[in-house]
Amino acid sequence: MKIIETSRRKFLQGSISLCVYATSSLANSCITIKTTAKRDAEDIPYLCNMCRNKCAGFARVENSTITKLNPNQYFPKSRNMLCPKGNAGIQAVYDKDRLKYPLIRIGERGSGRFKRVTWDEANEYIKDKLVKIIDEQKDNRSSLAYCNGEGFNKDEYIKFFGGKIGSANFLDEGSICLNTKLGATQLTIGDVGEMDVAGSDYLIISGANRYESLITPDSVDMLHTKQKLVVLDPRCTMTAIKADEFLPINPGTDLAFCLSMVYIAIKEKLYNAKYVKEQFDDFDKLQQHILSHKYTAKWAESKTHIPAEKIEQVTREFFSAKNPLYYLGRRSVWSQNDFQFRRAMVLINALAGSVNRKGGIIFGKPIKLNQEEIVEPLYNAAEGRFDLDGIIYGSSKGGSWLNFRDKVISKTAPYPVNAMFIRKHNLMQNMPNIAKTRKMLEMMDLVVVLDTMPSDTAMMADVILPECTYLEREDMVVSFNRLEPSLALRNEVIKPLYESKTMQDILKGLGKKLSVPLFEVSAKYDEDLQDSIAELGKVKAFEEGGYDLAELYKHSVARRNKNLIIKQFGEAVYNSLKTKGVWHPFIEKQKDLGNNLYEYYPEEKRYYSVDKKYRVKCYIEKLAKNGSDALPTWHDSYDFKVAKESFRMITGRYVTSTQTASTNNVMLRDIEATNHIWINDSVAKKLDIKEGDSVAVSSPISRVVIKAYPTNKIAPDVVWFAHGFGMDSEELTSAFGNGACDNQIIEDSFEKVYGCATMHHTDVQIRKL
Ligand code: SF4
Repeated sequence: MKIIETSRRKFLQGSISLCVYATSSLANSCITIKTTAKRDAEDIPYLCNMCRNKCAGFARVENSTITKLNPNQYFPKSRNMLCPKGNAGIQAVYDKDRLKYPLIRIGERGSGRFKRVTWDEANEYIKDKLVKIIDEQKDNRSSLAYCNGEGFNKDEYIKFFGGKIGSANFLDEGSICLNTKLGATQLTIGDVGEMDVAGSDYLIISGANRYESLITPDSVDMLHTKQKLVVLDPRCTMTAIKADEFLPINPGTDLAFCLSMVYIAIKEKLYNAKYVKEQFDDFDKLQQHILSHKYTAKWAESKTHIPAEKIEQVTREFFSAKNPLYYLGRRSVWSQNDFQFRRAMVLINALAGSVNRKGGIIFGKPIKLNQEEIVEPLYNAAEGRFDLDGIIYGSSKGGSWLNFRDKVISKTAPYPVNAMFIRKHNLMQNMPNIAKTRKMLEMMDLVVVLDTMPSDTAMMADVILPECTYLEREDMVVSFNRLEPSLALRNEVIKPLYESKTMQDILKGLGKKLSVPLFEVSAKYDEDLQDSIAELGKVKAFEEGGYDLAELYKHSVARRNKNLIIKQFGEAVYNSLKTKGVWHPFIEKQKDLGNNLYEYYPEEKRYYSVDKKYRVKCYIEKLAKNGSDALPTWHDSYDFKVAKESFRMITGRYVTSTQTASTNNVMLRDIEATNHIWINDSVAKKLDIKEGDSVAVSSPISRVVIKAYPTNKIAPDVVWFAHGFGMDSEELTSAFGNGACDNQIIEDSFEKVYGCATMHHTDVQIRKL
């Protein structure tokens, strides 16, 4: 049982009583409302942070209270749209469970017992522990690991812990999210690009479930009438329901479908010969490989269970369309072959010539932003990262979470990692095999969590530092989009509530506390620094060596933005960002086309095609040298098999859920109350399971209990339930104990090209309770 120290509980729960209006459909779930009669309303532009899409909005502020969030018509990326999560972002500010004050643990790790402290006490505690850890490790700064999920401030966070403090061990969400897709695209066509869904006239989607998990303007583009939409999925999702053709596929066999498309395109010479001749490297190797393996439609039928005639029909339609696009997906990694599956999709697009042109993968022309310069100290004793050992490419920036965790808990890392800073990352929910994450955190001497909510991960911390929400801060200006590039600014809508602070202010306080003591540790072990001190004296060596950790945050974000933007783009752009939240070259002339449609860039000014030197790489030597496939290849081990009376567990998420970050949001809970396990209805009948029955779902690592949803919309050997439920923190009063957590039972394994967790790899048994 998780208990915050009784006498302090009220500090966590707080007593704020505010007036909050949401859109009408969400209004019923608002918290207690009180306002004074007089209203000085103001609409302040901001950028949503409820998911990674970053749509633009205007926040209505009345008497210092946010009363409504509205979409912003100026932003080409979000085109005057906010999704349900975006509307419910208001609750992120006024959630009664929010973290309000710095806390230090007083009970066992994970017990949930904390005491309220001042910011100075929290920083002092961190300093004492961290200086001791780094001293014991003789100035190996990498004995501190730090992580940050997706978000605007990530780079600033990296500059602090990586650049200034000098740790190599940064981890982010990439290895439990998109890295195979990004890597496959980068390695095959030299850039990740952007998918021009609106410009395509034939769209294939494998598993990416846009209508159930992420509804943005480009989801809407997928429905426009001139386009044919083909969806492959083992489950009849909301996206599948809206497709022109839904092809139920045997799980984990999408690569076989893609290989067969390539086979048919080559065999029947359907591909764009001119483009292939001009842009492809090693096409002959690809051709020989695919034909010799005989990836025929009949062969693919035996793997995918999609009729051969259907595969042939879809392939011929795709290659005869004017602007076909195989959508590369925006979702987690499924299986060991995920990298090759994504690469095969890129190659299909390239064979159709759908790269750097309308309706394909476009490179476009993002607006480049100047960077501020800071001096980063050199630490001779700082070791390199170890989580990419044994991984062929991997992300040198965000690493491989599962490999890192394995090496820490098995003590096979080349040096101990004893401290961890965690921001915007709910480790105790977002990685397969939660028991292992708990073990890793229990091994740390210092765990510091920066968060807005008392998440399961925050409950494992030694120190909790309350960060303000995205509506209470200005972030550094960001460049968006390639087709219709723009700049966008998240403005501060209201001042941070309670004692919460912006990340920059938190790091500034920490930096001030840590700079000199950590410098003294380096001076003890680092001979170069000792020489520098002998030559310049301590003060100069400190200043010129860049050891002031708070240097980057000397000025407020608002001031830094102003300086940067005006210097690079001028006053008019800055004013546009402050008043409209957005700037693009046509913002003053953009056209309102009616029916909530806008023209941002005139058609002829959009960057569908740009001058760019790139090659399509069919054959990747480095993969072959490392025992992998230089060309996409099917192996028997990829065949989908589950033992008798077992089911393959697959997972996804609802549009109302931002992974686990929105789980306590009562507005969203009103829309999607809990998660249910989808079971094929004929199987459910045999097991005497009815809708709403509690069932135990067991995997080799753990067991969860969840309500059943029998349906004919899923294959008999597969079960599914949504991520983002089953929280263990009692401080999340709306989310605690509601539904089941998928990562409790998903086994941990990772593919070897990018070290990404494979999420659809676990077989489970089901029993009615
Ligand atoms: S898609 Fe929704 S949650 Fe995501 S940024 Fe846009 S409005 Fe916010």
